[in-house]
Amino acid sequence: MSEFCTADVVADFDRFVVGNYRRNPVVFVRGEGLTLWDADDRAYLDLFSGWGVSGLGYGHPAVVEAIRRQAGTLIHVPNHYMNPWQGMLAARLSKAAFGGQTFFCNSGAEAAEAALKLARISTGKKNPRVITLIDSFHGRTMGALAATGQSVYQAGFEPLVPGFDHVALNDLAAVERAMRPETCAIFVEPIQGEGGVKPLSREFLQGLRKLADGKGTLLMFDEVQTGMGRTGRMFGYQHAGVTPDVMTLAKSLGGGVAIGAIHARADLAAHLKPGTHASTFGGNPLACAAALAVFDVLESPGFLEGVRARSDRAFARLRAFAAKTPVVNEVRGAGMMIGIECARDATPVFARCLEQRVLVNVTHKTIVRLLPALIATDAQLDEGLAVVEKAISEL
Ligand code: PLP
Repeated sequence: MSEFCTADVVADFDRFVVGNYRRNPVVFVRGEGLTLWDADDRAYLDLFSGWGVSGLGYGHPAVVEAIRRQAGTLIHVPNHYMNPWQGMLAARLSKAAFGGQTFFCNSGAEAAEAALKLARISTGKKNPRVITLIDSFHGRTMGALAATGQSVYQAGFEPLVPGFDHVALNDLAAVERAMRPETCAIFVEPIQGEGGVKPLSREFLQGLRKLADGKGTLLMFDEVQTGMGRTGRMFGYQHAGVTPDVMTLAKSLGGGVAIGAIHARADLAAHLKPGTHASTFGGNPLACAAALAVFDVLESPGFLEGVRARSDRAFARLRAFAAKTPVVNEVRGAGMMIGIECARDATPVFARCLEQRVLVNVTHKTIVRLLPALIATDAQLDEGLAVVEKAISEL
């Protein structure tokens, strides 16, 4: 038993917390690795890592130690001075990504806003437009919301920021038709996450690069979900061999601490001159120290190879299950980003797994989405997938 009482927490939420989430009355009080414990000390196996935030699991010793040390040293200083950790993290990102410069913020949506502003100011086009994809998800702030190609999230919040053209995924001809002289950027997730774990094909990504080149149009990848090892490589774009001009990051970058970033080609980043953009908390020492620890783990010898090996095994297992289960249409994804597309409404899978204390997500009604922490062992994946498979079989 913990010191917390579920009923009291639920009462606080009901009375004092804005009801903008469909919340389940499960109160988590502690976590370690892939396990979360509720207020009544029941253990849950998490195959979703909090929308991909806890990519190294809960309480990873390297992250915890970095946060502890940093909290006792310096938590925040404003951005009109410098701090060593922001500089070190930007250098680390530059080396791991494409040699650019980084602006730090605090979330994925803020990173999208910064990328959109950079696209406008660096290309200098009149009445600039941005191409994004149908079923994409880029966040809830006004620019990110307009970029998001799903009217369900936009309803009631009109007028939207103008200048976005939404086209179908993997349809290069549609992108070509949507391209105009005013198109300042093409902004896509290498694998659509919320949209249903839908990978953009290699040909499509390479085609986007060609369409953008020479037209003063930036190719920008939203790696908020696919970045930081999620797909078995440091960044999703590395699978296709297509380098973007700008990339957004957030979620697991800080190992659970709020941090977002855009990494941009240095010649483009140079357009964000003093006064053009800012974030009070962006690049604070605490978040940067946590992210540096995340990099230490991801770049340790054999770490991502291990993720890929365990991923291959999990995908082989799920594809074998799919082959003998008519309700499963497809298993897709990469690394620890797994989508299981069902032929009918899969929403009951969430509750059935929760009953068995396994945490998963169902998106777009028919797609069971799993984002296990990268440290998931074969045994943990087997245990969790057995529950998921049973829940799907019972649909
Ligand atoms: N971009 C992608 C690909 C996402 O999956 C999300 C969140 O799920 C966001 C942006 C928005 O991130 P945040 O919720 O941190 O604003």
